[in-house]
Amino acid sequence: MQDYPNEEHIVKILGSEFVTHNVKRFKLSKPNNYAFQPGQATDIVINHPDWKAERRPFTFTSLNDWDHLEFTIKIYDDHNGVTNALGKLKTGDELVLHDVWGAIHYKGEGTFIAGGAGVTPFIAILRQLYKDAKLGENQLIFSNRTSKDIILKDEFEKMLGNHFINTLTQEKTAPYDSRKIDLGYLREKIKDLSQYFYICGPDAMVESIGSDLQELGVDKSRIVTEEF
Ligand SMILES: Cc1cc2nc3c(=O)[nH]c(=O)nc-3n(C[C@H](O)[C@H](O)[C@H](O)COP(=O)(O)OP(=O)(O)OC[C@H]3O[C@@H](n4cnc5c(N)ncnc54)[C@H](O)[C@@H]3O)c2cc1C
Repeated sequence: MQDYPNEEHIVKILGSEFVTHNVKRFKLSKPNNYAFQPGQATDIVINHPDWKAERRPFTFTSLNDWDHLEFTIKIYDDHNGVTNALGKLKTGDELVLHDVWGAIHYKGEGTFIAGGAGVTPFIAILRQLYKDAKLGENQLIFSNRTSKDIILKDEFEKMLGNHFINTLTQEKTAPYDSRKIDLGYLREKIKDLSQYFYICGPDAMVESIGSDLQELGVDKSRIVTEEF
């Protein structure tokens, strides 16, 4: 059984809005002295008796110097899980946040590779780099099923320009690529094998891209993923 630390912070929902057809942005009050590294997450519980036992991890997409917290959450409304319930909460409802955790943080310039809602740790990291004018040659390769699934498309375009590469696996729409991220795709897109590679998405995607990168000759120490 997992041994959970005891830190608990009750926060209020200050507002929420859809940023795609199934991804919602939550603006929350911020506990005093609550800080995290861009890329980190916390476990969230809905502060209601029916949901007290259900704890789920979500990544901060705000920055430390904001006056509120932000989370960007994909709502699965096909079953009665936590995200479905989160999607129905209103301004003023309460959540409980826990300790800050997570291994994904910025180590140096590289390529961020995300699948769907797996982009959330990169939202905070890239926002921080943009704010500090340190985006440099960092690039984001973002894989989604269709163009309507692309989270924060306009903001990524503004921050990254042509260093924002989209690929769609179930739609062919110019100017996007329409291929899975596999060995051949990575060989085409990646020239510098000594840069960092940050991967986040479904487990199978993270595993296969990690092993493809190593097959291309990337050292394991240059590959950053979440650790459980
Ligand atoms: C470190 C970390 C950070 C994360 N950060 C974020 C984030 O910032 N934003 C975000 O959106 N997600 C994030 N996630 C993922 C998020 O934790 C899960 O999406 C969430 O826990 C799902 O909770 P749930 O109760 O709604 O779904 P669960 O019931 O836990 O189900 C999870 C998955 O199983 C499927 N599933 C389970 N039961 C059924 C069923 N009966 N019918 C259909 N499908 C089913 C769902 O489609 C879903 O894919 C993060 C995960 C980790 C590990």
